Amino acid sequence: MKIICIGLNYMDHIREMNNPIPEVPVFFLKPDSSIIRNNKPFFYPEFTNDLHYELEVVLKINRLGRNISEKFAHRYFSEIGLGIDFTARDLQRLCKEKGMPWEMSKAFDGAAPISEFVSKGKFNDLGNIRFRLEKNDAIVQKGTTSDLVFKFDSIISYVSRFITLRTGDLIFTGTPVGVGPVQIGDRLKAYLEDELMLDFFIK
Ligand code: ZN
Repeated sequence: MKIICIGLNYMDHIREMNNPIPEVPVFFLKPDSSIIRNNKPFFYPEFTNDLHYELEVVLKINRLGRNISEKFAHRYFSEIGLGIDFTARDLQRLCKEKGMPWEMSKAFDGAAPISEFVSKGKFNDLGNIRFRLEKNDAIVQKGTTSDLVFKFDSIISYVSRFITLRTGDLIFTGTPVGVGPVQIGDRLKAYLEDELMLDFFIK
């Protein structure tokens, strides 16, 4: 399986990163070796001094598809969850400055903790799902999918023009404003609406 991540997909986050608004979805990949499940701890890597959390709503692809039209995109996922797109911001900055790919800053081991997945039928409106991240019990990120620049259907349609989607693939849909650093000893808790989905420590 593969993980596809959308960058720069919430206006306030685009502003905090001082980036222009993308005209089409920006995406990159993480390997399956970046996944952490079951709230296992995340071990702070030695190659960065500026590790950032990015909380994101994650779609789980449930059938094979390519060149999917926006109209039918909703048929390609039935469950959603939450994930952290851990980013070594110092390495990412270096990669960006040199115009190089930024995988080393986002695709490393453990860079994608994910929650359990829940049926999308649980939500009245997929276009307005609230989610939030708490660091040591203080809210640091608060988002709603109504603020997405590119909505779920448009992401699936666009990405599938380039990459075949397979059952079990995950799509991280972008992070809202409020990204910031973590330190060893921090505890991260993430909620989808009011349900606790992620709860783990940085070690
Ligand atoms: Zn991200």
